[in-house]
Amino acid sequence: MIIGVLSMQGDIREHMNMLHSCGVEGIRVKTKEALEKVNGLIIPGGESTTITRLLDSAGLRSPLIHRANDGMPIWGTCAGMIVVSKSKINDEVYGLGLIDIEVKRNAFGRQVDSFEVDIPLDLIGAPPYRCIFIRAPVITRTGKNVRILGKYNGFAIMAKEDNILVSSFHPELTNDKRVHRYFIDMVKEYLASHGKSDT
Ligand code: GLN
Repeated sequence: MIIGVLSMQGDIREHMNMLHSCGVEGIRVKTKEALEKVNGLIIPGGESTTITRLLDSAGLRSPLIHRANDGMPIWGTCAGMIVVSKSKINDEVYGLGLIDIEVKRNAFGRQVDSFEVDIPLDLIGAPPYRCIFIRAPVITRTGKNVRILGKYNGFAIMAKEDNILVSSFHPELTNDKRVHRYFIDMVKEYLASHGKSDT
């Protein structure tokens, strides 16, 4: 199994380290050729406008949409959640529309730019997960096939639709591997259902 980390900008190294500590091979994805090698992709937190502009100029928009439509698991964290959403990011930049959600950027306002809170997350199980929010987005609309997996102050902060997982917090900045492990299990299932062995 190879999991890619989209390497335009943001928390790339932290996700690579987490994959390594889960015993999974991670590669940095900057090109279409690298994207073809992976069985799952993490889009990290960072700055959504920058990440989207860079992936567009690398010609990755259509290949990414193609892999997502083919069932490959993709997990967007924080800015990555904005990138995979259906939201308009600014006048020129749109999300990839891989999951039927719309988001509000920097939703918690400047006064609480960053904070940590323990939140129970469906699918991850007990105990509650230490969620780190850094200028985080929230989900403002979910389509009917989207399952909300966690909420904070009434806002959805984690969700899934088929092979696309999103979280507005940063599991790569904790020592708790449960969300990474959950994504790795999604990739295992994808490989099994596509008749590929998990090597
Ligand atoms: N506020 C950033 C954005 O809108 C996201 C912040 C993050 O990924 N930590 O792109």
